[in-house]
Amino acid sequence: MIYLDNAATTKMFEKCGEVYMNFASSDFFNPSAGYIYGVNISRELENARKCLLKKLGAKSGDIIFTGGATESNNLAIRGSKRKGWEHIFSIGEHPSVYNVAKELELENNEIIKFVPLQNSGQIDYSALERVLSEKTRLISVMHVSNETGAVNDIERISAIRDKICPKALLHVDGVQAFCKIPVNLENLGVDLYTISAHKFHGPKGVGALYVKNKASLKNIVFGGGQEFGIRSGTENVGGIMAMKYAFENIDVEKNFEHVKKLNSIFKQLISEEKRVNFIETQSPYIISLSFEGVNGETLMRALENDVVVGTGSACSTKKAGNRVLEAMGKSQKEIKSSIRVSFNAYMSENEVEKAAKIILDKYKQVWEKVK
Ligand code: PMP
Repeated sequence: MIYLDNAATTKMFEKCGEVYMNFASSDFFNPSAGYIYGVNISRELENARKCLLKKLGAKSGDIIFTGGATESNNLAIRGSKRKGWEHIFSIGEHPSVYNVAKELELENNEIIKFVPLQNSGQIDYSALERVLSEKTRLISVMHVSNETGAVNDIERISAIRDKICPKALLHVDGVQAFCKIPVNLENLGVDLYTISAHKFHGPKGVGALYVKNKASLKNIVFGGGQEFGIRSGTENVGGIMAMKYAFENIDVEKNFEHVKKLNSIFKQLISEEKRVNFIETQSPYIISLSFEGVNGETLMRALENDVVVGTGSACSTKKAGNRVLEAMGKSQKEIKSSIRVSFNAYMSENEVEKAAKIILDKYKQVWEKVK
């Protein structure tokens, strides 16, 4: 089976398991304990924080370790929220941002505004500029779309913020960007940045939130005061150390070049079929495409013994329709037939060629049945 759903999750590096076991079994101590064994673990965590800041290209700020990106996104939005503030979200956000925005809307304490997308899947920058005001206190826009691979120009967004509402915090969900495309927070002007280990070959259930200024963030759960009092609960030390192993062993530039090649091989082969539509976006890791006349889910199920593809975000498969593709102006027909293919940097060109051929053959078989 060839796995092409790496935007949903990636296979963990085997070595991460060993790292995890070391911190779960030999060095299992609680990092908050005052004796030397605990202190040593807390030093390991501090070192992991420093390494992550470096990998993110941040010269200042802090890292809050969390239980994954859903938690980081909730913390970023709810933790920075103050009554009466205006919050701006892109309509293309992952449910772990979008549904928090909808919840805030229900609570009715602040003004929530959604910014539309361009046909390319990027946020509509002019609409963003129109919607911001001096009352805006939080802007939340993802770096790379998990649905389409569209890359938002975060530097441009932070420049717009600086011009209209310099006090507003800029939160970026960087889950599909970190360890995939070059990320340098120093240049991006970001206040809060979310990452998740299982998207870059680390374990599930562990992630982080970068915060430029801790004082801008309030805890949303209450407890023992770990993670600077912002995220109580004993840290998942094994998970964090395994995440560290993963990001330290990823060569972003080298991988990017390889995945670009995989992307172009795949597209070239699939384009031999004339009844296919690609969404042209920039991250080479994700391709959203649709085959005319065949339901995406039907194709996904027909393929699954040989090639695993997705039909959009794994987190929203239970929801009807596709908010992101709709916001890009795609027709219902195209949305129903869309599938998502996502690569990892450790697959070979050969595997991708094989997968593309299988997808084409399967499409033709299903098409013959349904046409
Ligand atoms: N944001 C984006 C863009 C994602 O792709 C995902 C995972 N599908 C998440 C947030 C949620 O991540 P986690 O599984 O770590 O909660």
